[in-house]
Amino acid sequence: MSGDPLAGLVTALQRLPGIGAKSAQRLAFHLLKTPREDVDALCAAMLSVKDRVTYCSTCSNITDTDPCRYCTDPQRDRRVICVVEQPENVWAVERTRGFRGRYHVLMGTIAPLQGIGPDDLKIKGLLARVGEGGVEEIIVATNPTVEGEATALYLAKLLKPIGVRVSRIAMGVPVGSDLDYTDEFTMSKAMEGRRDM
Ligand SMILES: [Zn+2]
Repeated sequence: MSGDPLAGLVTALQRLPGIGAKSAQRLAFHLLKTPREDVDALCAAMLSVKDRVTYCSTCSNITDTDPCRYCTDPQRDRRVICVVEQPENVWAVERTRGFRGRYHVLMGTIAPLQGIGPDDLKIKGLLARVGEGGVEEIIVATNPTVEGEATALYLAKLLKPIGVRVSRIAMGVPVGSDLDYTDEFTMSKAMEGRRDM
C-alpha cells in the first residue's frame, strides 16, 4: 500500500462510515480527476474542522467559539432547554426553525449493556444549568430508541423534583429511527406535540 498512492487513498476512504469498497474506489478515482485546487480546498476544510471546531463548555454542542452562539444569543429563550443525544441532533431541531430556546447535548445515552451510565453523559452540566435558576422547561429530544427512552425517563425522575417541567417530543418520529434523518416537518410536529413526562 505504501508504494501505491491510489490504493492507500481507497483504504483510507473505506474507513469512513457508510463507505464500502466500491464507493471508496469511485471516490478515489473521482479525486484523481478533480482539479488540484478543489482537492486542496477539501483538505483545508477537513483540517479546519479538526483545528477550529471544539465543544461548548456550557451545552457541549460543537462550536468554533466557547460558549457557542446558541448559549450566547440574547434572542434565544433561556427558560427552555432542548436536550439531545449528539451535536448533529441540534442541527435536526434547528432545521425546523421553530425552536427558539437553548440546547444541551448529552454526548450519548444511558446504555447499561455497553457500560454507559449517567456519569458518562453530560448530565451534571445540565443539572448545574437548571440549578442556576431561570429554566422552566426541559424538552427531552433523545432518539426514540430503548436507550433514548431510558435516558428520557432518567432525566424526568431527576429534574421533576427540582420543580422544572420535563416534556418529551411526540413520537411522530418513527420508533428506532435517528433524529438526524428526520425531516423538518416530522421534527416540527414532534416538538409541537410534546407531552409532559
Ligand atoms: Zn453552548
